[in-house]
Amino acid sequence: MPYVEGVNRNQTILLPNAVEDYVGPDDPVRAIEAFAATVPYAALGFRHAEEPQDGRPPYRPSDLLGLLLWGYLNRVETSRKLEMATRETLPVMWLLRNLRPDFKTISEFRRHNAKAVYNLVRHFAVWLREESLVDGSLVAIDGSKFRAVNSRDRNHTRESVARRISQIENRVREYLEELERQDQADEAREPAGGLKPGELREKIERLRERKDLFERMAEQIDEKGEQISETDPDSRRMKSNEGLQVCYNAQIAVDGKHKLIIVSEVTNAVNDQEQLSGMAIEAKEVLGLPSLAVVADRGYSNSHQIAACDAAGITTYIPAPKSSSRNTKKGLYTKDDFLYERETDTYRCPAGQILSRSTSAKQNGRTIDYYRTRACPKCPLRKVCTEGKHRRIGRRRDEDVLTAAHARARAHPELMRRRSATVEHPFGIIKRCINGGRFVTRGLTMVNAEFSLAVMAFNIKRLLKILGTEGLKARLAPA
Ligand code: SF4
Repeated sequence: MPYVEGVNRNQTILLPNAVEDYVGPDDPVRAIEAFAATVPYAALGFRHAEEPQDGRPPYRPSDLLGLLLWGYLNRVETSRKLEMATRETLPVMWLLRNLRPDFKTISEFRRHNAKAVYNLVRHFAVWLREESLVDGSLVAIDGSKFRAVNSRDRNHTRESVARRISQIENRVREYLEELERQDQADEAREPAGGLKPGELREKIERLRERKDLFERMAEQIDEKGEQISETDPDSRRMKSNEGLQVCYNAQIAVDGKHKLIIVSEVTNAVNDQEQLSGMAIEAKEVLGLPSLAVVADRGYSNSHQIAACDAAGITTYIPAPKSSSRNTKKGLYTKDDFLYERETDTYRCPAGQILSRSTSAKQNGRTIDYYRTRACPKCPLRKVCTEGKHRRIGRRRDEDVLTAAHARARAHPELMRRRSATVEHPFGIIKRCINGGRFVTRGLTMVNAEFSLAVMAFNIKRLLKILGTEGLKARLAPA
């Protein structure tokens, strides 16, 4: 039996292939094209949204946006790889009708339209609401860290700068001592295996320049009270799944109906403490609902953020943070062992004593009241309660809103389970779309655009699963 043979490459084809034949009827690229055709480019602020009357003709925004969305759907996120795809990948050749923008054009489109691409997520979320693909019955909010284009060595905190300055000073001292030693020895003789005096002086000069640089950094850190990232100044060192890394903190709000993302935002906040109300209020506006139920993990437990949600008609379900690990580690009672009695504004301790409000103090702009009892010195439980003479319990003035959110979360464990099922899956997919969780662009505006494209790709992928290519195209088609 002969092998199956391909055609001779030099053979001419009688009738040319149609570009339309390059992709099948269900290829996702057809849905991308349909979506790109519906975007109101001028209203969202895209460049060249109106056809220019003179000058060199630009590419249509719909072609380049479609190409970027195809890229994020297929994990091809750099402009050079996208340029290659325009020459080598049939669905892309179909999408662009054989147009071949170079990598600079693709990269500049992403850069010049960063804000417009960011606006696109909200525009799409409103369309999802109009199509009843989201219902706001439950919104889950979560954050995840994405690596920035900035190595750890090029990120500096007050401590790391002080350490580098001290290392440089030690090294300069060693070189100076070596110079001194060589001066005292026979000057004409080259030191065996060591550096010549000229090389040592050069090294000392370079180290002193480096020290000046770190001293200037230290001044900047003192002024701003922050860390400095040299490659991407907007990025920050923060805790991530891979340990301490220089990252951005990406936030999403996901609607529970079909697990579609309705709000996204990339920040450089090192934790989620201040992110709840902004995301929840934006989600409520997008959904156009008078009230909303929002669920988030314990990292969002922050009284003034929950109070802002309450004021906006948003009910939050947030578990209490884990008790003070310091007391737990020492085997002492934690605050959870003390019962707050609202009617009398007192705490009851494990020994049954009443702790009354004694003093108050301001901490980070918030008032904290402290409660204590005179019974501690003679208490038989004192050894497992405090290392001092008295045990003191602190309570923030706005702690009621916090405990109410914790109580709601405790009373509805099923919502906590829905939270993980709703919001954790999108991050897994998005991390795969964005270079395994590493941004390829720099600066808050650009990483927001990059993240927005990945969010759009995720939503399109979800809709393809829910509606199919034809179904999605039919929904997108103008009425
Ligand atoms: S040490 Fe004080 S606060 Fe602690 S259990 Fe005894 S009386 Fe209560």
